[in-house]
Amino acid sequence: MENKVRVNGMTFVPYLTAEEIQRQVKRIADDLRRDLEGKDPIFLCVLNGAFIFAADLYREVNLPDSVITFMRYKSYEGTSTTGNVKQIVGLYEDIKGKDVVIIEDIVDTGLTAERMIADIKEREPASVRFVTLLHKPESSRNGFKPDYAAFEIPPKFIIGYGLDLDGKTRGLKDIYVLENED
Ligand code: 5GP
Repeated sequence: MENKVRVNGMTFVPYLTAEEIQRQVKRIADDLRRDLEGKDPIFLCVLNGAFIFAADLYREVNLPDSVITFMRYKSYEGTSTTGNVKQIVGLYEDIKGKDVVIIEDIVDTGLTAERMIADIKEREPASVRFVTLLHKPESSRNGFKPDYAAFEIPPKFIIGYGLDLDGKTRGLKDIYVLENED
């Protein structure tokens, strides 16, 4: 693990090691495997941030009849009345009647997660579970609680293990926090 990571003029310091991350990935993978036994779930990785977490989690869950697919949840310019609107992009599989497991990188205010789940439910899946690598409960603006969270963290800005700063730092194996953000 690097002692410090400098990116875009900002300094980040170690926060969660690759070993700690893998331990928690195993823990929620065990929970998911138990809860999904006998089902044929479809895992839905939300790009870009969740791609590394999803790859590790999906392999740990290791349910032979499950499938994984990928989507984006993209903002587009709404009208002045609709404001910031998001939509599901790139999900071509029919999820009607399926047990869906959404894999996200981080839940901050919870607003994205809440709207995404509502959009997914319009496609009439049998069930929806929401998994996140990181959850910042103190930042919540709607009381949203993920079904599974690898880590609950304070409201700090973090990077690494899929999480970016301007598209950079996703490849870091460990997670780093902005320096002096205590
Ligand atoms: P929210 O829960 O506020 O609707 O939005 C969650 C999104 O905000 C995440 O998918 C991620 O793109 C971004 N985000 C929130 N907190 C962080 C953070 O600490 N680091 C990074 N890199 N992105 C964050």
